[in-house]
Amino acid sequence: MNNEDLKKAIDFYRSLVQEEIASEKIVDGKPIGPRTLIKKDHLDLNDIINPERSFLGKDVTGDLDSVYVTTFRIGNLKKPMSLAKSGYGTDIIAGIEMGVNLVKTGIIKNFDDISEFLAKYKVGILDIFKEEEIKNGKRLDIRVYECIECAGLPNIGEPICYYETGMIIGILGELTHKEVFAEEIRCWTSGYSFCQFDVEIKD
Ligand SMILES: [Zn+2]
Repeated sequence: MNNEDLKKAIDFYRSLVQEEIASEKIVDGKPIGPRTLIKKDHLDLNDIINPERSFLGKDVTGDLDSVYVTTFRIGNLKKPMSLAKSGYGTDIIAGIEMGVNLVKTGIIKNFDDISEFLAKYKVGILDIFKEEEIKNGKRLDIRVYECIECAGLPNIGEPICYYETGMIIGILGELTHKEVFAEEIRCWTSGYSFCQFDVEIKD
């Protein structure tokens, strides 16, 4: 994906984000997006085989995008959801280790490399939407579009991108040598068409 296509995708999703946030509901203190809520506590194979990735899937022939996205997701069905999401669960720790290693091995050397890496390996389209100074650090509003973990999944009432949350913590922590906190606050699986991470980099 070249820079022009990335920009097009970001412009498209930014307007969608605005619409979806405008029509969200707050349930038990958490935002739930406009997509119909489906009562289930885990995802099954039928849910994961149809990713919706019109930008990342564009330069791939046939339904190959759906094939490798499904392969990635099958890996995640190998463990119980309760393990993946428990506090600093296995997925977050795995993501942190991956993120740290991406920097240590020099694959990611700066913020620009993050976006390039994620697009090249079709993990997602990165949008650092907002960056602001706060007391003792910095706060970032990071969005990921067409996320390999969740794009196209049903709304089950809660975000599931723990691995990607960990990757953000690992990459940013290793690049800045500061303490980083990240939480996914909006996701396909909580009813939106994007992932949004609330990130703090502590001084
Ligand atoms: Zn997500």
